[in-house]
Amino acid sequence: MNIPFNQPERTPDPALDEQLDRRLAELYGPRKFYPTTSCSSALQMAAEVAKIQPGDEVILPSFTYVTTAMPFVKRGAVLVFAEIDPVTCVMDLDDVARKLSERTRAIVPVHYAGISPDMDHLVRLVEARPIRIIEDAAQGIDATYKGRPLGTIGDIGAVSFHHTKNISTGEGGLLILNAEDLQDTADVVYEKGTDRRAFISGEVDRYSWVSVGGSYEMAPPLKRLLLGELDLLPQIRSERRRVYDTYMKHLAGLPLILPELPDYARSNHHIFHVQVSSKTLRDQVIKRMREEGIQTTFHYQPLHNSSFGQQRGYDRFDLPVTDRVADRLLRLPIYPTLSEEQVCYITDTLSRILEENQ
Ligand SMILES: *Cc1c(COP(=O)(O)O)cnc(C)c1O
Repeated sequence: MNIPFNQPERTPDPALDEQLDRRLAELYGPRKFYPTTSCSSALQMAAEVAKIQPGDEVILPSFTYVTTAMPFVKRGAVLVFAEIDPVTCVMDLDDVARKLSERTRAIVPVHYAGISPDMDHLVRLVEARPIRIIEDAAQGIDATYKGRPLGTIGDIGAVSFHHTKNISTGEGGLLILNAEDLQDTADVVYEKGTDRRAFISGEVDRYSWVSVGGSYEMAPPLKRLLLGELDLLPQIRSERRRVYDTYMKHLAGLPLILPELPDYARSNHHIFHVQVSSKTLRDQVIKRMREEGIQTTFHYQPLHNSSFGQQRGYDRFDLPVTDRVADRLLRLPIYPTLSEEQVCYITDTLSRILEENQ
């Protein structure tokens, strides 16, 4: 007789984890992977793995989603907001250099629209300092910096599989661990604060509560879904690129700031954004486009100006580029199933509306 303690058909199959690990290694190279319930929870894990302490300073852009900042706020860190580049909207590394201090413990670049800042430059900035680079690569799946996948360059990378991202498990994420010295801590954090991984590998004979952690692991049905989604990446990137290229061709010459790709970047075309000349015009364009049946939208309210940011006094940061971009940026629909006809309707309508408002 062989009677397992848990109902066998409900017990996760280790072969699935091995298969997903292998597949992720094909994409990212040999790394430690922790599939998570979301990118937000991967970032929460990252703050715990990096052992951010109360009073530690964390440098990040203000032009980002709340959960880039939240894990560090929860650990009592002091947020230090850096400016962004006015065209690519990624963190301005000269401003990061000015804001480095003795208390800086982490820097969180956000790979906006699948484009990173100049990561070699960032790595040089933190050299020989006790600072972790945590890449918010939520939008970074299938995009690279100098041929290296986003999320694999800093100490830790966090990717999202939310339904708005290029591939999706509904909700889901991935923590990529690049810094080998953090692996034991990451194992404990991922196992809810226990040394269960050491127990599974036979290093200890029972497992117990050893530190902080959480319930971060992606559920097995979503891991299976993720394997299927990963296979779609090349096709998704090429379809998004088609839409991107059509936008670029048809919008050239209009009074807009079009996106630019740095030489080092291979984008995944996660977002198509333009900037118009004022907030009034941007809001008017969104309204008129909606009347023509096209949903367009702005993006982040900068975190330093948010209601929580103000409560914490973060509105003391002077970030004119961030404010200007947030006011003037407009996102157009971009996804694989948009037809050429739909894309042309969008560009024709946009150009007509811009003309109306000249
Ligand atoms: C989508 C996104 C997140 C959050 O990802 P979830 O998987 O929804 O938790 C965090 N940061 C950025 C920049 C994002 O775009």
